[in-house]
Amino acid sequence: MRTVVLAGGVGGGRFARAVVESVPPADVTVVGNVGDDLEVLGLHVSPDLDSVLYALAGLNDEERGWGRADETWNALGTVGALGGETWFQLGDRDIGLHLVRTQALRAGRPLSEVTTRLTCALGLETAILPATDDLLRTWIDTPAGTFSLEEWFVARGHRDEVDAVRFEGAEAARPAPGVLEAIEAAELLLFAPSNPFVSIGPILAVAEIRAALERRRVPAVAVSPLIGGRAVKGPADAMLSRLAGGTSPAHVAGCYSGLIDTLVVDEADADAVAGLGVQPVVARTLMRDEDARRRLMESVLEAAGAFA
Ligand code: GDP
Ligand code: CA
Repeated sequence: MRTVVLAGGVGGGRFARAVVESVPPADVTVVGNVGDDLEVLGLHVSPDLDSVLYALAGLNDEERGWGRADETWNALGTVGALGGETWFQLGDRDIGLHLVRTQALRAGRPLSEVTTRLTCALGLETAILPATDDLLRTWIDTPAGTFSLEEWFVARGHRDEVDAVRFEGAEAARPAPGVLEAIEAAELLLFAPSNPFVSIGPILAVAEIRAALERRRVPAVAVSPLIGGRAVKGPADAMLSRLAGGTSPAHVAGCYSGLIDTLVVDEADADAVAGLGVQPVVARTLMRDEDARRRLMESVLEAAGAFA
């Protein structure tokens, strides 16, 4: 079943892994967020694309939740000792990937091509595509000022309340090659349990991607990132409260109005699915191990089948 997954970083990577464990990996295309991309120490870092890449290649660090397993920190330690900036943590192995990507981008190659090279080099059959090759950057307006996504998230610990989320470059951004083709050829469209505002939001901010999703003729299923109204990790719950007015399944579904047919919510939110506006499916959504991922995907595929 040809499947497209819209994904952010950690929740996106976990879910993408669940998908390729249940659907032939070569049939899956992940469309990833680039709104968090940033330059660190002269290197182009794509935090969300890399989280998906590492998760699918089995290279991710499960405990830390980001970056690579078996990581060492010699380069960053040296940077710190020399008085360089260390607020954004990059491990040695991770830096190796950023070096390859940065060199290719400087040579004029588009991010989509570079990402394909990386996925092929890691032996993945699943395509990972940036939503766009064009500049698209997420800015967070807070009472303390405006920050880039990672500055707000990492350097400031996402403690500042969010007044607004803005996507620089969104008006001009075109979908990366292959994105629209994958959406149009898909038999199933999935929204990972990623942050709706800062992970899926930047993807949907590319007008042609949103339009392609709006005119879909196949089931579109989102998995809620909330369990019992709380994010598993990160600011999704706080952002939903402040920007959408609440943390119920209906508030999550409201972020994807017109774009999804089904919302998979956790058992802990089962009593709050009335008036959802889309088909609710109740499942256990915490992807703690392979068994949990398989059971979640059974619910997702069943929901899609029921709708098709
Ligand atoms: P980021 O870009 O690294 O911040 O990651 P994402 O936006 O892709 O994912 C963050 C979201 O994933 C958070 O809101 C979490 O609540 C959600 N999340 C992480 N793991 C799980 C899980 O196992 N199940 C569900 N339902 N949500 C999860
Ligand atoms: Ca992210």
